[in-house]
Amino acid sequence: MSSKIAVFPGSFDPLTNGHLDIIERASAMFDQLIVAVGTNTGKRPLFDVDEKIQMIETVTAPLANVSVETINGLTVDFMHDHHAKFLVRGLRNEQDFNYERDIANMNHNLASDVESVFLLAKPENAQISSSILKEIVHFDGDVSTFVPAAVWSHLQTKRDQEKHRAN
Ligand code: ADP
Repeated sequence: MSSKIAVFPGSFDPLTNGHLDIIERASAMFDQLIVAVGTNTGKRPLFDVDEKIQMIETVTAPLANVSVETINGLTVDFMHDHHAKFLVRGLRNEQDFNYERDIANMNHNLASDVESVFLLAKPENAQISSSILKEIVHFDGDVSTFVPAAVWSHLQTKRDQEKHRAN
């Protein structure tokens, strides 16, 4: 039987406990999970792709079947290149559902061999979004309970660098 390869694409700017939970659960469902780090053209990133990859690699190091890569083009093209059949996304609420349904239908039109798989966010993670966390950190708030320790440390460094630059 061929191995089941899944891709979890996202901006991960930065990785949160919500993302990590999806990664852990998907890694238990598939033989291999590739976390594909891209840039959402509609969002201005705080971290560059290399920084995001480094943080995700650190945090997912204990998960032997998880790898982290950059994605530049269409997700379905990346998936074909990596022989992946399953596209994993997380769902926090109705907005995510509506957005993800449209993307999944478009991806199905582009590549009918790709199966989208949705994992519901745990209730304790459903309020966590990278954008909101960045906003809180910008105004000196503490988000350490919502992100892995390595990410919290990078967030504080980034905030301090930005303040230094602004002065
Ligand atoms: P994108 O810009 O591609 O939406 P994100 O990093 O914002 O990238 O999200 C990547 C995936 O992770 C999406 O499927 C999103 O719904 C999911 N996700 C984001 N935050 C959470 C969370 N707190 N719990 C579960 N899934 C999440």
